[in-house]
Amino acid sequence: MPMSKKYKTNHAKEHKKQQHCPCCNRYIKHNERYPDYVCSKCVLLATDKSGNSITFVNITESGQGYQGKYSADGKLYRGNNCYIKGVKCFVDEAYFGGIVIRPFKRSRKTIINELADELKPA
Ligand SMILES: [Zn+2]
Repeated sequence: MPMSKKYKTNHAKEHKKQQHCPCCNRYIKHNERYPDYVCSKCVLLATDKSGNSITFVNITESGQGYQGKYSADGKLYRGNNCYIKGVKCFVDEAYFGGIVIRPFKRSRKTIINELADELKPA
């Protein structure tokens, strides 16, 4: 069975606007400003260097600033980087409010995409 296409249309423009999460490779909403942001599911997997789960929250309700906290005990996590599935990422305040997490190395995305293609069952 050939894989069915998941695109709604065959417009090239729509295809261009597809982007993948750099950590799990699933399709995520296209964002021109953040072409390599980590999807919301992977954000939940963020840990520190030692593998302790970290949650990043906005400091204000309007979505300004951010603060990392250890999920286990709520202690503050100082730093703006984290690890998701072994990918070192940095945390940033998103332009549109909220928090955006992106991998340090942009090339990593390409590597992961290539690996995923290789591992796909034929
Ligand atoms: Zn993901």
